[in-house]
Amino acid sequence: MSTQLTIHVDGEWRNATSGATREILDPADAKPFAVVAEGDEADADAAISAARTAFDHGAWPETSVAERAALLRRVADLLVRDREKIGLLESRDAGKTVEEGRVDVDCVADAFRYFADLVIGEGAGRVVDAGTDTVHSVVVHEPVGVCAMITPWNYPLLQASWKIAPALAAGNTFVIKPSEVTPLTTVALIELLVEAGLPAGVANIVTGPGHTVGARFADHPDVDLISFTGGLISGTKVAQAAAVSVKKVALELGGKNPNVVFADACATEEGFDTAVDQALNAAFIHSGQVCSAGGRLIIEESVRDRFVAELAVRASKIKLGRGTEAGVECGPLVSQQQLDKTEYYVDSALEEGAKLLTGGKRPEPSEVRPAEGYFFEPTVLDGCHRGMRVVREEVFGPVLSVETFTTEDEAVALANDTEYGLAGAVWTSDSGRARRMARRMRHGTIWINDFHPYLPQAEWGGFGKSGVGRELGPAGLAEYRESKHIYENLAPEPVRWFAG
Ligand code: NAD
Repeated sequence: MSTQLTIHVDGEWRNATSGATREILDPADAKPFAVVAEGDEADADAAISAARTAFDHGAWPETSVAERAALLRRVADLLVRDREKIGLLESRDAGKTVEEGRVDVDCVADAFRYFADLVIGEGAGRVVDAGTDTVHSVVVHEPVGVCAMITPWNYPLLQASWKIAPALAAGNTFVIKPSEVTPLTTVALIELLVEAGLPAGVANIVTGPGHTVGARFADHPDVDLISFTGGLISGTKVAQAAAVSVKKVALELGGKNPNVVFADACATEEGFDTAVDQALNAAFIHSGQVCSAGGRLIIEESVRDRFVAELAVRASKIKLGRGTEAGVECGPLVSQQQLDKTEYYVDSALEEGAKLLTGGKRPEPSEVRPAEGYFFEPTVLDGCHRGMRVVREEVFGPVLSVETFTTEDEAVALANDTEYGLAGAVWTSDSGRARRMARRMRHGTIWINDFHPYLPQAEWGGFGKSGVGRELGPAGLAEYRESKHIYENLAPEPVRWFAG
């Protein structure tokens, strides 16, 4: 298998300076299907230097908003053109179903279009009333400079787009390091940016490990902003390094997301069916490898037994297999490491007294499920409580823990009893209760009678240890800008503060 040139610096595709490479495994059979360049600090330095030069001396930061928006729209059109190809690549690389891969590409195109529309719709600054006609005072926005981006393996393309689209819309240059496990679609996206006409040096990518390339991005003095999406441990390291070099930091970290179901939501058969179906979707889509996965079911006691029994039956019927096979509903976990982690959390929960209702093990191999693949059965654990690691810590696998409440206050306390605060849902037919719960739950996104949808025009991000800052929406653009106050005195006079 020949090595793909996956490092892009100053308009050129190349190998790693060291010549090192890495095999990319298909998580469905653990076999390599691509070989990429394994960059290190030297490649990171070269990419940052290219982005610095392109920002300080290049044309991109000076382009008109109309030109930037036009480029973003061309990228969206190219994504539509390559939807099938890139969707398939995302499926193979990250282990998701092809349909999930296609939907990811659609969402990425939407993000590019959204930020194009946002910058086009803005005024050229905000006029501030200085209290006198002889002063013209305006606040304008300028690009931050060189942005470094680090992304995770679960939604490689989507997470990259939430950073790249606003960064370009604001006139920045950037370097990006995708997860070493799933770099391929980010490489494909950079190819589309080049095809769309982005000048050399504006978009640079270095494929390689976090502890070398990523760490270099975080501590390099020529980087003005670092935007990181990933786990709490790596995010903390990035924030520490960024603090020493005083760069702007945006962190999108993990979640331990509550899905609160009140009995009134299940009062009708349709309501019950919908709430069970959505609880299944919340916990098991992409095998639970979703930052906002609803891995904590918090359910009212009176409906619990029936709900959980039905949920377990449906979870046991989820069709696991290679994401490219027809009829498969859920792919494998992304790596052996993720499989080991999931097994560890299930074992620890059982040791701590949880009751296994379904799953809890690797499935039997089949025609669509090679024995070497990183598959794990959707797992429902009843009788869980805050003392258990599976309830407190992010599993990032197909594991649902069940906790029970009897009062609204208790439901709120359980939903907020996490150091994270990314997202949560409440299921109820009582609109007053829905609004009360939405206000009291301390998470960055609250769904009422739904789970998972997001909108590019609405901010995404977390309370607590789920992160710092927001992506998407106007705040997602503001992350990539500096505000500048320009105060023009139209009738200057001496101030005579000093007598002499
Ligand atoms: P991870 O933290 O292991 O890795 C994320 C990225 O950081 C990778 O590119 C990795 O190479 C890099 N990295 C690792 N160590 C580094 C270091 N010392 N310095 C700089 N970079 C380093 O996370 P992961 O396992 O790839 O992804 C899963 C995590 O991502 C979960 O916690 C999930 O919740 C989170 N996530 C959050 C969001 C969100 O929107 N909040 C979205 C997707 C994923």
